[in-house]
Amino acid sequence: MESFAEHYGAMYQTVNRCLPGVDMERIDRAVEYARQKHKDQKRKDGSPYIIHPLAVAEIVAEMGLDVEAILGALLHDCIEDTDASFDEISKLFGSTTAELVEGVTKLTRANFSSSEEQQMENLRKMFMAMSKDIRVVLIKIADRLHNMRTMQYQTPAKQISKCRETMDIYAPLAHRLGMQKIKWELEDIALQYLDPGAYERIMNYLSAHKEQDEAFMHTIQEKVTNRLSDMGIHNTTYGRIKHVYSIYRKMTTQDKTMDELYDIYAFRVIVDSIPNCYNVLGHIHDLFNLVPGRFKDYISTPKPNMYQSLHTTVIGNQGIPFEVQIRTWDMHETAEYGIAAHWKYKQGGGAGNEKDFEWVRRLLESQQDTDAEDYVVSLKIDMFDDEVFVFTPKGKIVSLPAGSTPIDFAYMIHSGVGNALVGAKVNNRICNIDTPLENGDIVEIITSKSAKGPSRDWLNICKSNQARTKIKQWFKKEKREENILHGKASFEAEMKRLQLSMSALSDGELEAQLLKKLAFDNWDDMYAAIGYGGLTAAKAVGRIRDDINRATRLPADKNSSPLKTAEDTRANRHAVNGVIVEDIESCMIKFSRCCTPVPGDAIVGFITKGFGVSIHRADCPNTLRRDDPRQAARWVRVRWAGQDEQPFETTLELDCITRDGLLLDVATAMTTARIRVRELSGKDLPGGRSIFTVRFEVKNVAELEAVRNRLLNIRDVTGSRRGQN
Ligand code: MN
Repeated sequence: MESFAEHYGAMYQTVNRCLPGVDMERIDRAVEYARQKHKDQKRKDGSPYIIHPLAVAEIVAEMGLDVEAILGALLHDCIEDTDASFDEISKLFGSTTAELVEGVTKLTRANFSSSEEQQMENLRKMFMAMSKDIRVVLIKIADRLHNMRTMQYQTPAKQISKCRETMDIYAPLAHRLGMQKIKWELEDIALQYLDPGAYERIMNYLSAHKEQDEAFMHTIQEKVTNRLSDMGIHNTTYGRIKHVYSIYRKMTTQDKTMDELYDIYAFRVIVDSIPNCYNVLGHIHDLFNLVPGRFKDYISTPKPNMYQSLHTTVIGNQGIPFEVQIRTWDMHETAEYGIAAHWKYKQGGGAGNEKDFEWVRRLLESQQDTDAEDYVVSLKIDMFDDEVFVFTPKGKIVSLPAGSTPIDFAYMIHSGVGNALVGAKVNNRICNIDTPLENGDIVEIITSKSAKGPSRDWLNICKSNQARTKIKQWFKKEKREENILHGKASFEAEMKRLQLSMSALSDGELEAQLLKKLAFDNWDDMYAAIGYGGLTAAKAVGRIRDDINRATRLPADKNSSPLKTAEDTRANRHAVNGVIVEDIESCMIKFSRCCTPVPGDAIVGFITKGFGVSIHRADCPNTLRRDDPRQAARWVRVRWAGQDEQPFETTLELDCITRDGLLLDVATAMTTARIRVRELSGKDLPGGRSIFTVRFEVKNVAELEAVRNRLLNIRDVTGSRRGQN
């Protein structure tokens, strides 16, 4: 059991030492607030929960972070584990603190355990990207460090998973941030649980050789110190055994026993200036025998994580090799605390050739010409702004361009998944497939075997080139047959709408002329292009419309209505095809294909360009255009002449449950009713359903309704609607 007083005292001292003159009253308020909020909670060992935030705050203070970060550390579990809210914390401690706490909470909620090696880099990137402010990462690392230090109270399963996560995420991050001391501690504790046998063997070896080691290190230290003091170089020199995990790694990668292991000793010489670093190097090489090929100058070429030192390996007169690291105090601070050290020493280490951790360099650059406070503010992580990292339900990480949607995600997994996409869940909630994804989202794609494949709209929604390419491929290749069908259907509909005859397309000379105008080799290619959306039917027809009209004007004028018969022309001079157009003495009449009106239907007329008046049912969707003021003058009042017995052609679509013999039943019903059927066809739909299309002649709407009732009485016909001709 650890006590509040003990931890509070330690935190208080560390804060005062590392941030002299800090506003302690603010910190005390945060301690009291967190203590209240966590008052009913206990750590696994039975200690009051508050000791954990206190310990984390102490680590954060030790790193040298600012007061906001210390407040953030004290409150870091409040949002996650208590009823504290962002707003409350913001009100009491300021928005910066609240944002830090919220950032840590986000990281706590995300699941960073992943077993796949190649995912680790993305996992670490996501960790950074989610953090936004580098202080969030540092608080989270401090949080993990304290949890590792108290790992013995966890269950064995939890120990293993937390230690793996530490090895995969936290230790590499600490390394990249240049925080060697913390990295070593994290690794050593993790090893203790992940390979306890090896850990024990190394510890036993080290303790068995303790006296020997200490004697050796003392001898070397004395030799170096004496020489440097003689030369008037002020220095601090000490030896140490390398940390357990680095010994463990050397043993396993080089397959060696402890006895065979090269350099497990490391000496540090810390001096006041860079020139003295090189002076010391000369003296070391003079005192001991140099091991060739082991000298490294990280002062002129710093490591990506800003680490600077001279490294050399030499052999003392006992024949034992050891490494010597030579650096200045500033470099030492950076080596121990990494990026965090820059809150203390804003001049920091020089920027070098940091390739694999470029954002550190950017941070350093942005630090120039600003004072310390601005620097903290500018420490936002913008490295991964153009990427978003999300999880599959199994915990695999997928990196996508920022703004990506479930569509991008699906195609990133596999084009088959994308093509079968029918919906998506984000964080276990159904959402639109065009929802932009956020870092850490868990994305699940709902697929269906009967999915119709991607929609043309998806090309505008998706952000990744990969998705776009795959969708286009699908449209172009895999569905050519279907594209041709769909393209042809919409092309024909457009031709019909403009009263153009399809027969023009197969008219030798004209056909060649039209294809040339459209820039296609054959009609199928053009249909396919319309089908996958590369060309609209309206555009295609628009391009050839004039050519067709010119070539077919005369016959088209005469035969523009297939329903027009010889009797019609003899009819009442005001009535054409059984329809009277008010205020117009003589004009051509066409019955529209969209709604196939029959006598008895309420109708309206629309003056078309070059084709007279087309008659629509008053409830036809196309007549909604009557509201358009630009076309108002083209709508005319029309009515049925009444006495006409002329048959009219109309179409019904029947919804059916698929069964053998149904088509025959429909045909029989029509014959029995003495209805002349022009066309009868069926089309199977998924799920055991089908649609029958019946085109037939009736005299008026009453007869149509009688036929409709008759058809609806047939078993397995479940519905009907007026269709298109
Ligand atoms: Mn915590």
